[in-house]
Amino acid sequence: MGNSLGGSSYHHTTINIVDFKNKGSQLNFILINQSINMHWADIAAEKLIKRGGKHVIETGTSISGIPHIGNASDVIRGDAIRKALEEKGIKPRFIWISDDSDPFRKIPRGMESLKDYLGYPVHDIPDLDGCHENFVEHLVEPFLSDLREFGIEPETFSGTELYRKGALYPEIKTAIENSEEIVKILNRFRRDPLPKDFIPWSSICENCGRISTTRAIEWDGNIIRYVCEDTEVSGGRVKGCGFKGENDTRKGYGKLPWRIEWAARWKHFQVTCEPLGKEHATAGGSFWTSKIISRKIFGWEPPLPVIYEFFTLNGEKISSSKGNVITLGDWLKICEPEVLKFFMYKRLQKQRDINLRAIPNLIDEYDEAEKIYFNLMEGTYAAKRKYELAQIDEPRLLQVPFTLCAVLAQAVPDLNMKKIEKRLKWHGYGNFDLKRLERRIKLAKNWNENYGPEYLRFRIIEDSEAAKIREKLNKKQILCLRKIADELDRELKATELHKRIYEISREVGLEPSRLFEAIYLVLIGKRRGPKAASFILTLDKRFVRDRFR
Ligand SMILES: [Zn+2]
Ligand SMILES: [Zn+2]
Repeated sequence: MGNSLGGSSYHHTTINIVDFKNKGSQLNFILINQSINMHWADIAAEKLIKRGGKHVIETGTSISGIPHIGNASDVIRGDAIRKALEEKGIKPRFIWISDDSDPFRKIPRGMESLKDYLGYPVHDIPDLDGCHENFVEHLVEPFLSDLREFGIEPETFSGTELYRKGALYPEIKTAIENSEEIVKILNRFRRDPLPKDFIPWSSICENCGRISTTRAIEWDGNIIRYVCEDTEVSGGRVKGCGFKGENDTRKGYGKLPWRIEWAARWKHFQVTCEPLGKEHATAGGSFWTSKIISRKIFGWEPPLPVIYEFFTLNGEKISSSKGNVITLGDWLKICEPEVLKFFMYKRLQKQRDINLRAIPNLIDEYDEAEKIYFNLMEGTYAAKRKYELAQIDEPRLLQVPFTLCAVLAQAVPDLNMKKIEKRLKWHGYGNFDLKRLERRIKLAKNWNENYGPEYLRFRIIEDSEAAKIREKLNKKQILCLRKIADELDRELKATELHKRIYEISREVGLEPSRLFEAIYLVLIGKRRGPKAASFILTLDKRFVRDRFR
């Protein structure tokens, strides 16, 4: 049940598969002893089914700045578990909660105009751009709409609104009535113990609207008496207004401390599964406290945790304040959504990095899994399953490398798909989905413009410019170019042309590097460029012939 670590690693289950291979008239039975790696989402689904038939997968994001791809980790991973459960015939409830009842503690970079709102519940900060109901909506609405592009559509809730419509009142009441027991549990994990009479409810000051500044003094049934006083938050000192007031917990104008709130939500939504970052799951981390509170105070068997390692971006911690951050929307401009899902569906207990400059490597890995999925090559079940779980629609074959798409996007600047299709045929690519190709061409173009290496970025130079460059080439270089031009009359594939270029340089007695230099110089005016043979075939043949002759 809930107390074992979900997703800790793949299970190695050995099963026997009988493979029927029909060779002529003889039917061979080959017994293959194959070790199948179960995917963590399937392991979680199996564990959940042992618990029962009704499931709720909870995910959420704390909203203190623009939500980034790291913030989408749990909802993207939770969706894989949803899928795995549905494949097994159980339709879980899949929810996402914005943690907007938290106090605004630190001003994100670029949001300095919000400095007066330190200490307020994030939910109560206005949208300074005026386009949404409040600050949180301004951030959450694009996040959720980007998430839909990833095929992920959880039921969504605002943590604050859950309180204010009284949904969590029964749990608030239970928590306050059992505060002594809760303090004992919390203190087992705290360095500075809470006082015995700690009241687990943060009121929002009725006078100034802040939440960080209120301190509960006493409680009586549903009423909490508080005082609003100066306090420190990580972003600086927050002034209290001095107001003394009474907070009626039935109105939900406040919040439970995080570890209690988490357990209260589990009870309220009957959560059975929770993907969570490793930082919550370390010894003494909030998950372990919430788990005890859930069981002992709320009488709810805690959810199965699916614990994952965080990932870094470009080798460093994702950080809005340092500007090392991208949003789901940014991702969608440079890469397919399925590829990020594929990345997140890798083994959970390993710290990984997304390097935006190296995105083509990740895409190559995804493309390889696609080949395995479509039985075009042998490979592991793990790769195939990751690919399958990452799909949004019916999978369609592409198998045109991302970097080649980046080259094509520049070789055919108007992105005319008919031309691009034809040139891919010269490369030996035929069996691809046109819609996917069109999307990848656009993404590769954007990626290359923003993150591509120098050699992948080029512009085809004008005839006059090329003519001037030609004058500086030596006789051997010019002869080689002519010979390549002659080859273009034949229907050569990229690998064959590549071979011919080397043969030509040998025949003429020119260093291959000097020949490649000549090729790039007359085409793009630079000494280096994308792989020559493949590059030539992305261009119009007549154009290359004229230029080389
Ligand atoms: Zn707005
Ligand atoms: Zn106040």
